[in-house]
Amino acid sequence: MPVHDLTAMELRDRIAAGQVSSVEATRAVLDRIDRLDPVVGAYLSILPERALETAKEVDRKIAAGEPVGTLAGVPIAIKDVLCTSFGTTTCGSRILQNFHSPYDATVVRKLLDADAIIVGKTNMDEFAMGSSTENSGLRKTVNPWDTSRVPGGSSGGSTAAMAARMCFAALGSDTGGSIRQPASFCGVVGLKPTYGRVSRYGLVAYGSSLDQIGPIAGTVADAALLLSVIAGHDPADSTSVDEKAAPAGDYLAGLNEPVEGLKIGIASAFNAGAEPAIQKAIGEAVDDYREAGAEIVEVDMPHLDYAIAAYYVIATAEASSNLARYDGVHYGYRSENANDYIEVYTKSREEAFGKEVKRRIMLGTYALSSGYYDAYYLKALKVRNLIRGDFVRAFERCDCLMMPAAPTTAFQIGEKVDDPLKMYLADIYTVAVNLAGIPGISIPCGFDAAGLPIGLQILTPAFSEAKLLRIARMYEARTNWHTRKPVGLE
Ligand code: GLN
Repeated sequence: MPVHDLTAMELRDRIAAGQVSSVEATRAVLDRIDRLDPVVGAYLSILPERALETAKEVDRKIAAGEPVGTLAGVPIAIKDVLCTSFGTTTCGSRILQNFHSPYDATVVRKLLDADAIIVGKTNMDEFAMGSSTENSGLRKTVNPWDTSRVPGGSSGGSTAAMAARMCFAALGSDTGGSIRQPASFCGVVGLKPTYGRVSRYGLVAYGSSLDQIGPIAGTVADAALLLSVIAGHDPADSTSVDEKAAPAGDYLAGLNEPVEGLKIGIASAFNAGAEPAIQKAIGEAVDDYREAGAEIVEVDMPHLDYAIAAYYVIATAEASSNLARYDGVHYGYRSENANDYIEVYTKSREEAFGKEVKRRIMLGTYALSSGYYDAYYLKALKVRNLIRGDFVRAFERCDCLMMPAAPTTAFQIGEKVDDPLKMYLADIYTVAVNLAGIPGISIPCGFDAAGLPIGLQILTPAFSEAKLLRIARMYEARTNWHTRKPVGLE
């Protein structure tokens, strides 16, 4: 088996045993990037010298018998929304195109402390606003399964890099589905942890009450491995949870133990909104769990129909406030056409923000303005509470919910980009999860007639990632969808 086809766990174990060197694995990844990324477009920047140097150091430590971290020598890609003290941090935006962060995000620090090799930073919708990566101001990314189609978004660079095996695992961020939806479009595993489980320090803010960083991987075990490294309380992020209240765990321990007496909740009416091929694949996955001994219960989620509306008010309101800091003075791009200081603000923003970002700043500012605050923003917060209540009530009757990760498989490039409402509807199955703050995972569960991957989304109550991963692993252990690879990319 070529080295790039190993899972992150397999690679880590072989590196530790001296069977493969980290330099060899890093070279294999860099070679693939050289060969495939001109077509796929997953990376915004690659860090070959730094990666090889770190890999060499890991190999030296292992040869000398020195202790190494849990990801020692494993090449990993990170979404360009995460601050790194090396290279650039662009958020897929022209306004940050040449921005050098003075510090590392906590998750980046944790990866480095675990001796992972950061090979590069991946493309994304500008400021993580989008569902197809087409809103990137810097580069086009295509779906490795069909290069005329989008990889999903906004973490489409990370999921495309994973699907094309141009990394062994990746990090993404998920405000309303940006890990789970592109994972489903690209046939990989994507996990959004509970809000507060992973530190957001150094994650460039989009919707601060919704944003969460999570792993993108080839297998459930690799996602568990990455989560074990990045999870935990961080004094630098006041919204990361106290370890005593909800300890982060070793998510690999017990991963292969099936959940006894598993009860799966299904909201049939809600799931009926997906394409027939997706409903069929989800139905078959649920049947598979039933064969494994699970019981299925029908649950009522009456407020999920309002999730998109509430999400796009709350997310844009928070974004309009968070993006006020890009003023041509503090960070990044500054217009050369400004005649006075007001024009420094207005022209820098006008020239460097993309269309979707401007649309959302306007929407959010409108929803927060004094005349409309009660009618839109406050109302959206009330709906958010009702949605949370739907999940709380559902989880009184079942261990997990199962639904599609997206209503369609990967769509054509250009198909929705001029119709924002159509694009927003691509998030119908994911945004409620962020409004409720609970964890969710998308795992491969089949293909449609065109050979495009389908994702099964599984949701569990807050801070139950260990159980969520075990439930996902039960299915993965019985199926081989996750072993399929896109053809034509060798
Ligand atoms: N597609 C959603 C949006 O555009 C979610 C994006 C995300 O999760 N970052 O807001």
